[in-house]
Amino acid sequence: TPTVGVLALQGDVREHFAALAAAGAHTCAVRRPEELAAVDGLVVPGGESTTISKLAVAFGLMEPLRERVRAGMPAYGSCAGMILLADKILDASPVSAGGQEQETVGGIDMIVRRNAFGRQNESFEAPLDVKGVEGGPVEGVFIRAPWVESTGERAETLAVHDGHTVAVRQDALLATSFHPELTGDHRVHAMFVEMVRAAAA
Ligand code: GLN
Repeated sequence: TPTVGVLALQGDVREHFAALAAAGAHTCAVRRPEELAAVDGLVVPGGESTTISKLAVAFGLMEPLRERVRAGMPAYGSCAGMILLADKILDASPVSAGGQEQETVGGIDMIVRRNAFGRQNESFEAPLDVKGVEGGPVEGVFIRAPWVESTGERAETLAVHDGHTVAVRQDALLATSFHPELTGDHRVHAMFVEMVRAAAA
């Protein structure tokens, strides 16, 4: 059974624990480099990406995260987590990180636009066909969600909503604009746990 950590600095950590456990993984919280070193894969939760990024720097986790992702550790980011796994971020909101460039872990060759789905639509749900997930559409829960503005050659689009890419996979890295951890449908987490198993085998 693979051990999947959840980056537990800020965001909907508990919901990811529940979804990962239901998908058959051992779970543990990651707040320190030693904890990161002990996991087979990592979930970066939804929340506020600027906060998660600042805390990751403050906790001495940013470089270790980049190193492990570079070395091939499977990682899955939902919403804010997608932003952290993007090689490049654009910001659609006027209130951004004080004009400073937001640091990311990176790993997926894509440009992600924060808060892209707009204010009038800060939250909505939509059924999504997700490549690799069998058994009908996934209910996509979008909360001040980013979209993927563009992807590089190695990144594969897994789902599209309204003409915008909302799920991407690149090798052992997975990212969704939406929050499957909030729905009780564990198929996306099960796909990720399979990716972790495959990487460990
Ligand atoms: N808007 C948030 C951000 O930019 C993401 C929202 C979410 O994770 N639900 O970090």
